[in-house]
Amino acid sequence: MKTILTGIRSNSVLTLGNYLGALLPMVRLANEHSKDFKVNIFVPDLHSIISEVDGDLRENTIRTLKYWLAAGLNLNENVHIYRQSYVPAHSELCWILNCTATMGETSRMIQYKEKSKGQESCNVGIFDYPILMAADILLYDAEYIPLGEDQFQHIELTRNIAMRFNNKFGEVFTVPVKTSDQVKFMEVDTAIRIRDLLNPEKKMSKSTVAEGSKIMLDDTPEKAAKKIMSATTDSLGKVKFDMFNQPGISNLLQIEALVTDVPLSEVTAKWNGETRYGELKKKVAESVSSMLKDFQTRLAEISDDEVYKLLEEGEKYANELANAKLLEVQKAVGLR
Ligand code: ATP
Ligand code: MG
Repeated sequence: MKTILTGIRSNSVLTLGNYLGALLPMVRLANEHSKDFKVNIFVPDLHSIISEVDGDLRENTIRTLKYWLAAGLNLNENVHIYRQSYVPAHSELCWILNCTATMGETSRMIQYKEKSKGQESCNVGIFDYPILMAADILLYDAEYIPLGEDQFQHIELTRNIAMRFNNKFGEVFTVPVKTSDQVKFMEVDTAIRIRDLLNPEKKMSKSTVAEGSKIMLDDTPEKAAKKIMSATTDSLGKVKFDMFNQPGISNLLQIEALVTDVPLSEVTAKWNGETRYGELKKKVAESVSSMLKDFQTRLAEISDDEVYKLLEEGEKYANELANAKLLEVQKAVGLR
């Protein structure tokens, strides 16, 4: 059985953008494939500490796991949930891979360049996390890694590290599929990018300071509705799906389609030519607040105990697999 592996960092509460663009598609994919694939879902808590953590990391981690369940993840014997830091083999393999990767290839990572801004005060974790990510993947022979486009370069790096290691030390690692095949597997034409509500030229991000820019998954439905009603639109006065000229309006149409699970073409056809932006906003505000209400109700029904029970099983499973692979690696390089 092949393995799908994915995760979301647990730095803070997630936004509607993270939910619609990452969590929901990943849950859909996991549910679709968990009969014929092993599905590893983990919280990369060691990746979380490369930047500021908003709140209590342990609580954030448990909440992030509850998000997966509240978003509809179906559990069966092929689905395993674990925390990265509870499987020490990740850090151990990271070190060994550090000694095979080059400064050149890691320095070329766009995420590193963006996050470090060329400053020497940037922590080493920001530089090294793609190697930890390679360990996260290679420990489980994972072939499919559904992630955002911003992570594609790291998947290519993982492939290179795995191929180089196999060439030098023998066939130890399964090489993940190329990013172009990852995209095919995810069955998406273009990545979903929910826009910032106040500055729709930019994407919605949890680290944006302005409250009105983003809908958080713990916003009350009323608060979320207000944010939609105050979203920036344009002065053209006619609804049209056109991300370039009318990004605010197009974003609302996109949100409406995803939240109500109606094809974008249908939503667009329905609102096309409407001159009262307020009517569209009212509808989207209703859809978003009712989605949040349902989501939050499901979230409140999931107990910490339920999550800990899943983690107990998942972490036992993950440690067994990861330790076996690590031993193979240690033998291959001569440590054992
Ligand atoms: P930060 O501001 O801290 O970078 P972020 O909101 O960009 O936060 P990430 O932790 O970088 O979130 O990304 C988590 C996941 O959510 C990734 O898979 C990313 O592709 C996806 N994602 C982030 N923002 C959006 C968005 N606006 N629309 C769709 N998907 C998004
Ligand atoms: Mg981001």
